[in-house]
Amino acid sequence: MGRYIGSVCRLCRREGEKLFLKGTRCYTHRCAVDRRSYAPGQHGAGQRIKLSNYGIQLREKQKVKRIYGLLEKQFQIYFSKASSKTGNTGFLLLQTLERRLDNVLYQLGFATSRKQGRQIVSHGFVSVNDQCVNIASFQINENDEIQLKFKKKGEKNIKDNLELSKERSVPAWLELDPVHFKAKVKRLPVREDIEIPINEQLIVELYSR
Ligand code: SF4
Repeated sequence: MGRYIGSVCRLCRREGEKLFLKGTRCYTHRCAVDRRSYAPGQHGAGQRIKLSNYGIQLREKQKVKRIYGLLEKQFQIYFSKASSKTGNTGFLLLQTLERRLDNVLYQLGFATSRKQGRQIVSHGFVSVNDQCVNIASFQINENDEIQLKFKKKGEKNIKDNLELSKERSVPAWLELDPVHFKAKVKRLPVREDIEIPINEQLIVELYSR
């Protein structure tokens, strides 16, 4: 499956807000949204667009895609799966995205961004319930045990990541054991656990047009 390889700061500027796509590094570097608070591109600085309802809903969907690093097709699959389940579609969508293994590594602080979490998983450094998993979109479940396995150099990198991520608290649904590089999923995330600046109802409205 493809992925976006351009500048991520450009994506934040397009949305006009900080999406923290570089994870922990967003706190330590000068943010592009602070430096240039207008849309990217040749005419970005002169743009004054009043968004329609459709535009507002569309931007909300784009934000979620960007935060979790998804392409359009992948996002559509997540949405159609969420809408086929019983319950609040918007919440089920976010919960499914939050349960992705790359996101879980980011939330635990093993990775400084979701993108880096994806890399750690795809390089085969993660096992879930003693089974090696190299699929970033893997869905974790309640009571799953996550363990990182690597050689000496990798250990130093993960320790550095944990140090850098110290300021972000580990969500209540996860339990981190930083000494042994492992974690446990205490329960599935509820809406209050998902701290992203998104109104998921707008996405549901977009798809029900
Ligand atoms: Fe977005 Fe982070 Fe870049 Fe700021 S530094 S524009 S929050 S990715």
